[in-house]
Amino acid sequence: MIRINENYRKLKPSYIFFEIADKVEQYQSENPDADLIHLGIGDVTRSLPQACIKAFHKSVDELGNRHTFRGYGPANGYAFLREKIALEDFQKRGADIDADEIFVSDGAKCDTGNFQELFADDVAIAIQDPVYPVYLETNIMAGRTGNLTNDRYEKVIYLDGTIENGFIPEFPDRPVDLIYFCFPHNPTGATITKSQLEDWVIFVKEHKALILFDAAYEAFIRDDSLPRSIFEIKGAREVAVEFRSFSKTAGFTGTRCGYTVVPKACTVYDEAGLKTMLHPFWKRRQSTKFNGVSYPVQRAAEAIYSDEGKEQVKERIDYYLSNASMVCNTMDELQLSYVGGKNAPYIWINGNGRDSWDFFYTLLTKAGIVITPGVGFGKCGQGYIRISAFNTRENIQTAMSRMKKVLLEKPSKETETI
Ligand code: PLP
Repeated sequence: MIRINENYRKLKPSYIFFEIADKVEQYQSENPDADLIHLGIGDVTRSLPQACIKAFHKSVDELGNRHTFRGYGPANGYAFLREKIALEDFQKRGADIDADEIFVSDGAKCDTGNFQELFADDVAIAIQDPVYPVYLETNIMAGRTGNLTNDRYEKVIYLDGTIENGFIPEFPDRPVDLIYFCFPHNPTGATITKSQLEDWVIFVKEHKALILFDAAYEAFIRDDSLPRSIFEIKGAREVAVEFRSFSKTAGFTGTRCGYTVVPKACTVYDEAGLKTMLHPFWKRRQSTKFNGVSYPVQRAAEAIYSDEGKEQVKERIDYYLSNASMVCNTMDELQLSYVGGKNAPYIWINGNGRDSWDFFYTLLTKAGIVITPGVGFGKCGQGYIRISAFNTRENIQTAMSRMKKVLLEKPSKETETI
């Protein structure tokens, strides 16, 4: 008898973004004339940099020539890309990472979701709340979380993000083995300082634990004192793995490319309590289950590191950051407190006592704006909404003036809920 993995039944019925899409679709079908502006999902709106397009064209032509054609590539990525990554993203920032510690992939969603396969079924996992849903949901699928009671999975250690701690988690009060971190943080846009990250590296060392560090938004860091990589922290090579993505950096959300760094110094423990290197396990996993990223995509990713590519990437990130600062200015005018929006593309807004979904519906029905209700990212997100800066300047301007109009107007019977 073929049986289902019962852990899948422990998942909440739908992924937050599908739930929002369903609600918006329903509203749009009932209000076909509504001109909605989507400030919800974090997808980019700017095209790929020209440097990447040029590299694409050139490499596609190579595939059409029998002398330069390429078939299967290395599962961990071509050396030409890994070497650029190691030099530009790590060594130039003083982080000791080598090209053969890098695994090129089709993006950080797959890697952050797949990495948990390497660990024992009963490791204790700690996850930030609010959180990018993939870390939690892939652990639910793997059977590590227990059941859902009172909106929390019983075996998960939640690292609560609150206004009081600035969405930087405090150390857990229970033993923990695997810690998922994301900075700059999705959904709150919070950033971690070097000294805060140093404290966590010391903590995981003491507890023989491991940090999985998702740095998908590092390109948005403009404050040079903030770490872009966990490997800028002394000793992190032994206790951390880092995930990166070209999605938000260079508009690769549809093109698909990212990478994972597993330092050779990074160790975990076997059944007997003996230290073992993690690197060969991820290598083995990838070579069994993954066949590499296509050659033209890797050439396009390589072009991000050319002078032309760097300039075009910076211009795009600057554009989104100035959208974000426009949102922040509006929130100041509305006297709504928020975090993020400075070194991150997300603005996490406190609804001043409003329920997240109520705030969502108010903005949808009265302002024609789609945002993400904070509670969709976890219990601690209740009362907040997330606005994404990935949009055109015109849409951000229109959305902000609509929001001001709706939220500054005097409460009438209909608007009392907001
Ligand atoms: N990690 C975080 C924190 C994200 O917010 C996202 C996408 O929104 C991803 C990973 C996924 O990145 P990719 O497009 O490389 O799969």
